Amino acid sequence: MTSSTTPVTTTSAALFDRARAVTPGGVNSPVRAFNAVGGTPRFIRSAKGAWLTDVDGNEYVDLICSWGPMLVGHAHPEVQAAVAAAVARGTSYGTPTEPEVELAEELVRRTSVEKVRFVSSGTEATMSAIRLARGFTGREIVVKFAGCYHGHVDALLASAGSGLATLAVPGTPGVPASSAGLTIVLPYNDKVAVTAAFAEYGDRIACLITEAAPGNMGVVPPAPGFNAFLAQICRENGALFISDEVMTGFRASKQGQWGLDGAVEGWVPDLTTFGKVMGGGFPAAAFGGRADVMGHLSPEGPVYQAGTLSGNPVATTAGLATLRLATDEVYAHISAAGETIKAAVAAELTRAGVSHTIQATGTMFSVFFNDGSPVTNFPEANAQDLPAYTAFFHAMLDRGVYLPPSAYEAWFLSSAHDDAAIQHVLDALPAAADAAA
Ligand code: PLP
Repeated sequence: MTSSTTPVTTTSAALFDRARAVTPGGVNSPVRAFNAVGGTPRFIRSAKGAWLTDVDGNEYVDLICSWGPMLVGHAHPEVQAAVAAAVARGTSYGTPTEPEVELAEELVRRTSVEKVRFVSSGTEATMSAIRLARGFTGREIVVKFAGCYHGHVDALLASAGSGLATLAVPGTPGVPASSAGLTIVLPYNDKVAVTAAFAEYGDRIACLITEAAPGNMGVVPPAPGFNAFLAQICRENGALFISDEVMTGFRASKQGQWGLDGAVEGWVPDLTTFGKVMGGGFPAAAFGGRADVMGHLSPEGPVYQAGTLSGNPVATTAGLATLRLATDEVYAHISAAGETIKAAVAAELTRAGVSHTIQATGTMFSVFFNDGSPVTNFPEANAQDLPAYTAFFHAMLDRGVYLPPSAYEAWFLSSAHDDAAIQHVLDALPAAADAAA
């Protein structure tokens, strides 16, 4: 067991004070602020492989991996070399470039999409996919699931209405009621609710969007056949099925979640969104799908969509270098590392008397601090002992393991998580499990 040494974090704390003076909450994306778990976020100075080093010199095994992108670890020499060469050639031209074509070809090769358009964030990808679906179908209603996060798109920051298959209300101030009012929010994994929504609004529904396997309420795998059912009910009703693979894409498996269900069962989404891994740590994302649907996008078709930095040559080079490294061996390594960590977490929490549930889809997993029941939807994901997670999180952090500062997130690994990094995590677990008890 690693000893309980509370690390010195004075430089992080000072930076956080400065950041809060000039940035809301001191961060540029909310969950980084530790609001859910309390305390001061660590400001990271550098990272290499599986390890982060903060501005006070503390080192952590990274189980966030930039919230998914760093599939082959931090500062991978081949990604760095490709990026350095791209930077040396110039960083943005506002013209077409070869890396964009190569990355698009790689996405088409690996997944179900026939054509793809690059953007700079997952939010932009889902926002654009929805606009395209509305433009293609001439309809306005969007169906989504409670607990699925698709970025901070107005129509997708909606909360469930008062009854089954009612139109939603804004999920945050700043989202117009008129925008949220075109969204239906349904319980995840619930075929009856989906059927009822299509029965009532079927001819007005432009698209249904779902996380291919939710990872934003913790990992909640789709029930067997659920995604196939969604694809079919959309087809029957003339709506588009949008599979959001921003998190799962090239992460849950080499072909994303689609490789675990659609490719096996023989169905394809109409549109798919990607982000995270495909940018190799740079701001790159994409949406793609059926050629006839993508043909509605400007300049080929009437649906407008654009971006100054879309398909940026440095970002697409980083993504391409990462995907080229993402071989079967990489997924096998991450899978084996995940199995070791999951087994050790389960053993230590059980020893300490902390009930929990561990769920996975492919190589992606999360730990629910709950009563041990399976988690199939958002209300069940919410039934967690948050103080227990908070205690566990801080005990791990104090021992040099950086977990997501929220109980609702997946834990991410990389091919750089070697035996030493994994052992460091295992050594921290007994004390963290005791802290959570
Ligand atoms: N979709 C999913 C499934 C995500 O997990 C996220 C971000 O976590 C997004 C969309 C939004 O992506 P971004 O944060 O790049 O805007």
